[in-house]
Amino acid sequence: MATATAPAPVKSDVKIEYTQCLIDGKWVDAASGKTFETINPATGDTLAQVAEGDAADVDKAVAAARKAFDGGPWAKMTATQRGNLMYKLADLIEKNKEKLAALETLDNGKPIRDSLNADLPLTVACYRYYARWADKIHGKTIPVNGPFFCYTKHEPIGVCGQIIPWNFPLLMQAWKWGPALATGNTVVLKPAEQTPLTALYVGQLALEAGFPPGVINIVPGMGPTAGGAIAKHMDVDKVAFTGSTEVGKLIMEAASKSNLKRVSLELGGKSPNIVFADADADAAIQGAYFALFFNQGQCCCAGSRLFVEEKIHGEFVEKLKGIAKSRRVGDPFDMKTHQGPQVSREQFDKVMGYIDIGNKQGAKMVAGGSRVGDRGFFIEPTVFDGVRDDMTIAQEEIFGPVLCVMPFKDVDEVIGRANRSVYGLAAAVWTKDIQKAMAISNGVRAGTVWVNCYDVFDAAAPFGGFKQSGIGRELGEYALEHYSEVKTVTMKL
Ligand code: ADP
Repeated sequence: MATATAPAPVKSDVKIEYTQCLIDGKWVDAASGKTFETINPATGDTLAQVAEGDAADVDKAVAAARKAFDGGPWAKMTATQRGNLMYKLADLIEKNKEKLAALETLDNGKPIRDSLNADLPLTVACYRYYARWADKIHGKTIPVNGPFFCYTKHEPIGVCGQIIPWNFPLLMQAWKWGPALATGNTVVLKPAEQTPLTALYVGQLALEAGFPPGVINIVPGMGPTAGGAIAKHMDVDKVAFTGSTEVGKLIMEAASKSNLKRVSLELGGKSPNIVFADADADAAIQGAYFALFFNQGQCCCAGSRLFVEEKIHGEFVEKLKGIAKSRRVGDPFDMKTHQGPQVSREQFDKVMGYIDIGNKQGAKMVAGGSRVGDRGFFIEPTVFDGVRDDMTIAQEEIFGPVLCVMPFKDVDEVIGRANRSVYGLAAAVWTKDIQKAMAISNGVRAGTVWVNCYDVFDAAAPFGGFKQSGIGRELGEYALEHYSEVKTVTMKL
């Protein structure tokens, strides 16, 4: 996610306008009347009270989505008209990009230059990419035996429940809504309780774009209640989830115990990032730093296991240490800030807990390790060297600014070690040797492999996990499969 030139600074005093549930084209309070606080992670202060939806609100949203799916303007719209609506939504997001970037930074804590230069353009590009797909989704004619004409149609699945995390709120909404809407489904989205504000704002933009009532519904709320209600709902046809592997398993269980709704999951990772001695040193060092510390280390595909070839290991770690010490951690609304706060007190405590475990298990902390300031949830960029494969910090997803460096000797050894993980989301290799690049990209069990780059995302390139990193692929043409049913029609001639 490369950043472009810095535009004008954005103010932090953005007005918070939408805090209710969006159901059937209307803004409504939760049926229970309950609300929850969304917090500014840079200060710990409350930003707003947001409607706390639960099973009753999910029921209403699903009923509205069902009605919109079964008849009315959405069901009657042509594929091109659907695509045009999605394009309008993309245009409105682009028009409101500074406001949305400010809301994202306020609610999530990510540096404003990342919100503006990475999250917003990628979000707009994702809606436009899928808008262009809307009228290009079609089946095949099949040369079956006998006097029959046989063809397939790709039809929408129906009502899609979508549960998203807090690390890229706008982008995760786009990854979910893009393929769901392009294929003609209706949606009930539950944003993460830590970061509901931008999802709700985009809900308003969708109304302004002209999406008919019930096509798009948003129920903010807690995981086990609102999210759980979506996962086990008997009238939700598909659930798409991005979040932890632990909750992904619960989603799948609820789906199987209820109505066997379709499931797609994008889960955790512990991605190996492998640097050979022949790599372009500067690119590899900058790349290794970015791979882990981008977004405060809160990326499912973070390059959290950094394997460095023994010959260059000492020098490499020194340079990483230098970058870590030079990075500006602080006010996310300052255009010069590289690293903002962790998203919540809970995440802050979890990451600090892992730093403690790393120290206790004998890894060598060479940079960081402490809290920054006494307000908000800031943590110093932290680098552990001498990490062994069996240490907790090398096995579990930390989801924070903590990098584990591990030396290695040769290609076969590093492939074996890289694959010794329950996860298989992403991997990267840095080398000038095409043989090594091919050996790693073929040998590593991961849904994405980056060669001499990291975190390069494009709406057209599929993303998802092997092993316990998930089921299915998001983005690209592949995601459309998870939002369509194939119907075979056979006619006697
Ligand atoms: P994290 O631990 O990083 O917050 P989670 O997997 O807990 O990640 O959360 C990702 C999303 O899943 C959030 O929207 C959260 O509210 C939701 N969620 C959490 N627990 C459940 C659950 N039991 N059922 C459904 N959704 C859940």
